[in-house]
Amino acid sequence: MNKKHKEILENIRNEFPILDQKINGEDLVYLDNAASTQKPKSVINAIKDYYENDHSNVHRGVHTLSVRATEAYENARSKVADFLNSPNKHQIIFTKGTTDSVNLIASSVTNLIQENDEILISSMEHHSNIVPWQELCKRTGAVLKVIPINENGELLIDEYEGMISDKTKLVSVVHLSNTLGTINPIEDIIRIAKSYNVITMIDGAQAAGHFPIDVQELDCDFYLFSGHKIFGPTGIGVLYGKEEILNKIDPYQFGGEMILKVTFEETTYNDLPHKFEAGTPNIAGAVGIGASIDFINNLDRDLCHQYEMELHDYALERLEKIEGINIIGKSANKSAIISFVIEGLHPHDIGTIINQKGIAVRTGHHCTMPLMDFYGIPGTVRASFSIYNNHAEVDKLIDAIKLAIKMLK
Ligand code: PMP
Repeated sequence: MNKKHKEILENIRNEFPILDQKINGEDLVYLDNAASTQKPKSVINAIKDYYENDHSNVHRGVHTLSVRATEAYENARSKVADFLNSPNKHQIIFTKGTTDSVNLIASSVTNLIQENDEILISSMEHHSNIVPWQELCKRTGAVLKVIPINENGELLIDEYEGMISDKTKLVSVVHLSNTLGTINPIEDIIRIAKSYNVITMIDGAQAAGHFPIDVQELDCDFYLFSGHKIFGPTGIGVLYGKEEILNKIDPYQFGGEMILKVTFEETTYNDLPHKFEAGTPNIAGAVGIGASIDFINNLDRDLCHQYEMELHDYALERLEKIEGINIIGKSANKSAIISFVIEGLHPHDIGTIINQKGIAVRTGHHCTMPLMDFYGIPGTVRASFSIYNNHAEVDKLIDAIKLAIKMLK
């Protein structure tokens, strides 16, 4: 990394006011980015500006503030469309987050699923990409099948090819595992699914903030992510869908905004994307996600990715030297997330002690209980890196873990 790059990265850190604080008398070291990223000033200011100057309800009003709020909301939709390279903006639906997006699809595709049809997910899915499908299966009599992984945390693509058949109606797989850091070969997964005319859904909650996504190139039917994991606010998420399938499936919530005409006898639904956005939307959240996309677009994404992986490699190299450590997730294709367990110690105890040193990591099952069962562990300690972290913070993490081991053993 040359001097100019270092300077760019240091300046990025200064954009995040929350990082400049003490926790338990120590500098905050925020390594819980897979759970939620922090927010740059530009995102915080965009939300503040919106509420100070432009807020009203959208779409219905003729007055100036309503027109401005509508413009702000729809402008954010255009930014998301460009961010994903969606062919147009009406294929972008705003939701509450990834979980809400999965629930929307799993409810809305009900009319396309019949008894004994099969839904495929993988062993490393987040609960939000398991439970809604279980519910769909209960409603329809469809069967949920799980693509296995190996010990390294890599999907077994050959097994997947063997599982997919004319009975398969939908495949839903995570792009980047929040627990293992595995980057799945979604291009292959989608290609194989397409050869059987199977609907494909990609959970991009972890991926969208880390590398560019091109939904047209991927050719998936659905791609989803959450605002709060890409430097944007909580309570706003995205569902991209192919136009043909979005037109074919039913809305899953009903009320205002999503209608064209209502009588007591009958209702006609609105066009895309409004058909799937019942009620007053999270306008400020959309403004915030738009600002987070502007922030990302101003970054040198290759440099950021390279830097995050440099931090990952440095942390991994140092962690692997700790006696009794077991890294969970050793995929050849991996992102800047490290999960680990230490022999004889509970992850929560490690997390609690290192918090005393100002270090924020996540401990537990990371909403992937079946994956924990696969590894035969109750949970892991997970450190996840972002562009504002640095090598000194990795050193502090290592020192704090060593201290925790000393205290707990
Ligand atoms: N999928 C993955 C891979 C995730 O990491 C998360 C968040 N931890 C989700 C889905 C759910 O996202 P949200 O809580 O924002 O709905």
